[in-house]
Amino acid sequence: MLTLREILDERVREAAPELVEKLDRNRIRCFSCGHGCPIPEGQPGVCKVRYNKGGKLYVPWGYVGGVQCDPIEKKPFFHAYPGALAYSFGMLGCDLHCSYCQNWVTSQALRDPSAVSPPLEATPKQLVADALRQGGKVLVSTYNEPLITSEWAVAVFKEAKAAGLLTAFVSNGNGTPQVLEFLRPWIDLYKVDLKSFDDRHYRSLGGRLAPILDTIRRLYEMGIWLEIVTLLIPGFNDSDDELRQLAEFLVSVSPDIPWHVTAFHKDYKMTDPSDTRPEDLLRAAEIGQRSGLHFVYAGNLPGMVSDLEDTRCLKCGKVLVKRYSYLVQDYRLTPDGSCPHCGTRIPGRWARQFDGQIASVPFLPRESSRLFTIVSR
Ligand code: SF4
Repeated sequence: MLTLREILDERVREAAPELVEKLDRNRIRCFSCGHGCPIPEGQPGVCKVRYNKGGKLYVPWGYVGGVQCDPIEKKPFFHAYPGALAYSFGMLGCDLHCSYCQNWVTSQALRDPSAVSPPLEATPKQLVADALRQGGKVLVSTYNEPLITSEWAVAVFKEAKAAGLLTAFVSNGNGTPQVLEFLRPWIDLYKVDLKSFDDRHYRSLGGRLAPILDTIRRLYEMGIWLEIVTLLIPGFNDSDDELRQLAEFLVSVSPDIPWHVTAFHKDYKMTDPSDTRPEDLLRAAEIGQRSGLHFVYAGNLPGMVSDLEDTRCLKCGKVLVKRYSYLVQDYRLTPDGSCPHCGTRIPGRWARQFDGQIASVPFLPRESSRLFTIVSR
């Protein structure tokens, strides 16, 4: 029986030339994420999925760790095609090792033996056909860190674009100028998980703050639709001072960037902090609003966070999109994405018309996926 490592080692191809640089002594540098690993011959990078063999960088290809169709609000994107179905796919591995990861079964599959996630055989054409069959409008690379599997994402996104679909990343934002330029022609929407505004906290998760802030600035300048999520973890990243600094940074990029503060629940190895309470989310949201952000949302505690699930006009204050969790209960935007009461344009990517919302709670996909499992161990 093959091990997961052996299976994945067979499903690779050479890295995009834009994402690799030759160094001395057969070493190579990878630019797919902010670590910028110099990788010696025969070794993988920090993510464990990109490796140097014979002075060439090999990267994951031809499988997915999982697929699922969900409302786009679940990603969460609140200013991009409300009510649309998002077809999510991911590979395995991550460049960080967050102890509270909610996708640890796929993200930590090569680090943690208890993370068992048999990959599914897939081609870009199969994924797009699977998404279309399930009514997907947006293809989203998520579950693992998509930056470290950017070549595969771009291959899928090219196929998606040819079929008239939109594309998105749900990412930790640990990017580089090279990988963002590589993605730029093929990506419409980008969610960055801004986990903290303290470099020491980021280092405890295996990253650094600076590349993430740089990625946020660059994505905004590139015109890719950007939303930010901060999972509020009591005692880790929820001090008033840290939240204020984080919100002020976002305002300095643009006050129109939506900021979602979402509730933590005990997961994976982080079981000490208590779960986030509604009042914690309300406090964080107020800090965001006071700092000047126009659109602040509170997530993961539906019905308990006042009106912080709704989108309001930033000028007249009327409710334009009313939500309960990922369900759109009312939609008032005009076809060009304006407030029907005062005509103010609401920043985002809006469909010409609202196609309606999935009615079932919990949401059940119309069809199940038709991808096949690879026997792994
Ligand atoms: S994706 Fe990041 S962690 Fe992986 S090899 Fe490249 S630079 Fe290193």
